[in-house]
Amino acid sequence: MKDIKEQPQVQNFIDGSFERNGHAAMDVISPVDGSVISSLPLSTNLDVDKAVQSALKAFPEWSALTLKERVQIFFKYRTLLEKYCDELTQLVQLENGKTYGEAKAEVEKSIELCEFAVSMPQIVVNEIQEVSKGVECRIERKPLGVVASITPFNFPNMVPHWTMPNALVLGNTMVMKPSELVPLSTMRMAELLKEAGLPDGVFNIVNGGKEVVESLCDHPKIEAISFVGSTKVAKIVYQRAAGSLKRCVALGGAKNHLLVLPDANPEMTASNVVASMSGCAGQRCMAASVMVGVDQVQGIIDRMVEETKAIVPGENLGSVISAEAKKRIEDYITEAENNGAKVLVDGRNTTVSGKEGGFYVGPTIIDYVTTDMSVAREEIFGPVISIIRAKNLDEALAIENGSNYGNAAAVFTQSGGLAKQVMEKASAGMIGVNIGVPVPREPFSFGGWNESKFGVGDITGRSSIEFWTQNKKTTTKWNPEAQVNWMS
Ligand code: NAD
Repeated sequence: MKDIKEQPQVQNFIDGSFERNGHAAMDVISPVDGSVISSLPLSTNLDVDKAVQSALKAFPEWSALTLKERVQIFFKYRTLLEKYCDELTQLVQLENGKTYGEAKAEVEKSIELCEFAVSMPQIVVNEIQEVSKGVECRIERKPLGVVASITPFNFPNMVPHWTMPNALVLGNTMVMKPSELVPLSTMRMAELLKEAGLPDGVFNIVNGGKEVVESLCDHPKIEAISFVGSTKVAKIVYQRAAGSLKRCVALGGAKNHLLVLPDANPEMTASNVVASMSGCAGQRCMAASVMVGVDQVQGIIDRMVEETKAIVPGENLGSVISAEAKKRIEDYITEAENNGAKVLVDGRNTTVSGKEGGFYVGPTIIDYVTTDMSVAREEIFGPVISIIRAKNLDEALAIENGSNYGNAAAVFTQSGGLAKQVMEKASAGMIGVNIGVPVPREPFSFGGWNESKFGVGDITGRSSIEFWTQNKKTTTKWNPEAQVNWMS
């Protein structure tokens, strides 16, 4: 296990070696206390090209292995994730600011994602049929070639595992561009892949900012781009990747609505809503952002206020990612207050003793929010929930349907019939019934609707197999006496 306090300079990982280019650099800051923990190179298109050439060189040998051979490396890699779980957890904490428990859950999810990847030989079974006497058609799934994955700051360990294991196991080689705010977990991932025996060039990392992303979108030898981040950038990436004729799936931001009906179990509902909005400091694309309270739910709101007040920033609530994020979140709260909303629990101006340089926002509940307010419409990405009151379920569904986003939606009720209505009518890709963070577990796939995702299919699970492969269709006839028909 490595000493978490001694972080190396961030380096690119190309052709199995770490290297630092001579370009400009930026500080990597721990949001826990604001300290500088490393420095990141701002790579250019030359670095991207070098990484792509390395991935191109590795592709023929890697893709020629059988699926069963490729997964052997990921069995070993999965064991390493388990062995170093504590260290990887601390690393996520250090660079992202979430609590130990949240960071550990993230690493555990990465392990689950690897378990799905190693199960591919049981799932990816090619199809064959005798279509005429003596004539057979078969479909085989073939890798695409060099692919790219661009990741956000909020899950430094898990989101890279949404893409890397599946893409590689299916025979592709990859260039990854981690968020410049949290590059350390991805670097450690490369070390562990090497330790597991992954051949040089199969996985590469290029660090930097938007120039690297643009260069990946434009590179003629990259076949597919997977992006996870804000909707603003997802749109840019999707359009740019399509502009250079690549397949692309781009996951964007979210504004998740939880519909709370008057018959909901008060205790369970209050604790689920609070956990959903405040977990990972609200920096989850699955976090509750709007609670639509239908009819009489004051008792549930009172419980939520009680639970929220018991949360202690710096103990069971982590930091937000940066000073800019803290300011943005606090500005949203102030704007809502100025527009007539009522702040029931106020997380502004939060500091944590001993970590005064850290970026903390306390959990916040804003009541009497109206649909025209920015806290009702825009992604805040902090531990804040806006409560909108609705007279009935139809009105609540109309509010949910009115959002541009569509990642997740949930309903809290004890009525199966009402839950079914929400399951059918909510305009979101992932629905929860009495669950505040309805993340589908493997092998079910992850992905939203509307402006929360651009592209066909989802990013994980069975759906990702389609994305990372292309079908080869072969028709064969070996015996001369085989039936002659229009196919002959
Ligand atoms: P971001 O969009 O700012 O950054 C994501 C990636 O894009 C980073 O690697 C960044 O370097 C790059 N980037 C930033 N600006 C760019 C530009 N102008 N051109 C090209 N590339 C650019 O997102 P973030 O702040 O790192 O992450 C938070 C966002 O990600 C939230 O909106 C959250 O909802 C979303 N997210 C969505 C999902 C999902 O499954 N839908 C999952 C996790 C996070």
